[in-house]
Order: sequence, then structure tokens, then C-alpha cells
Amino acid sequence: MPVGAQWGGALFVARRPKAEGVHEGRHPGRRAVPSPPPVLTEPGWPATLCYFAKVAPHRAQVRVPVVKSESGMSEQSTSAKPTDMRVRVQGEPRDSYPERAPEAERGRVRRITVVGEDVLHRRNAEVASELFGTDELSRLIDDMFCTMYVAEGVGLAGNQVGVDLRLFVYDCPDDDGVRHVGHVITPVLDERDPETTPLVVENEGCLSVPGPHAELPRAEHATVRGFDKDGAPLVISGTGYFARCLQHETDHTYGRLYIDRLAARPRKRVLKQMNEMREEVFARRAANAAALTGEAGAE
Ligand SMILES: [Zn+2]
Repeated sequence: MPVGAQWGGALFVARRPKAEGVHEGRHPGRRAVPSPPPVLTEPGWPATLCYFAKVAPHRAQVRVPVVKSESGMSEQSTSAKPTDMRVRVQGEPRDSYPERAPEAERGRVRRITVVGEDVLHRRNAEVASELFGTDELSRLIDDMFCTMYVAEGVGLAGNQVGVDLRLFVYDCPDDDGVRHVGHVITPVLDERDPETTPLVVENEGCLSVPGPHAELPRAEHATVRGFDKDGAPLVISGTGYFARCLQHETDHTYGRLYIDRLAARPRKRVLKQMNEMREEVFARRAANAAALTGEAGAE
């Protein structure tokens, strides 16, 4: 079973695919995809993770951004500003932020649904305006953060705790190592512009498909529009792994799992591996829940 750093690691960071294939640009191990592969030809689905991941050590605190040269090749800039490494909470930079979102401290662990359960495979209900600003919605988000951390994920959608509502939470790094934390209600992805936003193939997994990973193309940049729990409009943008997270989680709210984007053979392989790995994953989550919440384990 692929596991990351020990529970309590400081930051969840993308698991990289094994270093093979072409190494391009600033993302060794990733393969840029010039045009959409067949798996993404189905229209109508906003391109989205309750991805696992973890954990690589913190990256350097200041990185030199990469800019496009006239030749179109990426190169390191000598004049661009260093990346602002501050944690983004609901899209806004914070000078300090705890290792786990405060919501998790208030939440309780819920059971994570597994592929095959109906709520994962249909478009979920829109969050009614009457629900904004209520304790009920706040408690749900608290529980989702708590559950996500226990399962060592970087994102979690409502239907993954069995709730038929379109929302997700996340605590996910981008490819610069900047941590993004927040929640989005009724997320809608901006349509990808193939001219400006390439697809990138990386490993992806899902807490509701416990255990395996598979390579999947996703847009390198993504913007999600929605609302916060009080009904204020939100626009969250991300690159790299965080962009993948935004796409994966928005997919969930429409009833789409990442394995639904795989060809038949890798999908079959993932489901077979899940059956072999799931009990080990569940045991690990139970141990995490016990360690995190003390006597209050999963319901
Ligand atoms: Zn997922």
C-alpha cells in the first residue's frame, strides 16, 4: 500500500508518478499532453480529488516562477517576483495558519462512501439558499474536514460522507508548494481553453476508491466558482495538483468518479486493486481516527 509520511505531517503534497517517460519543463515526471485524449471527449462534464496524497517535505519557501519565453518554451525568470508562499484560505493569503483547518477540530469523523454507493453516482442536489449561514451547514463542513484528514486526503466532496449536496472541502498544495484550504458550495468549473491550458497526466486516486491510483489527464489550471457557507460568492483558481483537486472534487458533485474517466482496462485494474487494498486502507483510517479523535471514533 502506498503511504505517505506519518499522520500529522505538516502538509499534504502530491504523490508523483514514478519517474518514467518524458521529463519536461519544471515538472519532472509529468507528461504534458498536447491534445485531449479520447477519455476526455465526452462533453457536458466539468472536467475534477479527494485525492490522497501526501507528503513530500516542504519545498523551498521561495521559488522562482517560470515564465513563457518568446519561443514558447518555459524558462526560469530572472526578474519575476518570488512566489508568495502564504497559505490561501478561501483563496485569500494568510500570514499564519494551523497545520489542520480549525473546522476539523470541531468536526467528527464520518464514514466515507465507496464506489458503488448510489449517492456517488448521481448529480447531487444544489445547496438550498435557506441552508446558507446555518449551523447545519457549518457542522457538515467541520465533519468533512475532520473526515478528510483522518483519511489522509486533500479533498472531499459531500457525497463522500453520504450527503446528497453539491459541495467539497480541500487542503491541497499546488505545484509551487503553496497550500490551499477551504470549501466550495455548488462548485462550477470554468470551461478549459485548449489554447491556453494544456492537459497534464499525473497519478490520481480517490478516498471512495480506497487504495489504487491511475494516471489521468487533467487541465493544468482550473477555476471554480461557487459560494462559501454563508452564501458569499467565491472564485478559487489553482494550478498543477491543486487544479487537479478542484476538477476531481467538482466531478464528484456531479456524480462522476475519476475511474469513470479511465479506459476500460485501467478502470478494471483499479477496481481489482481496490478490492485487494481496501481493508488495509480502512484499518489505517481507523487508526488515524483513534489517534486524532481519541475516544470518538468513526460512527
Ligand atoms: Zn475522490
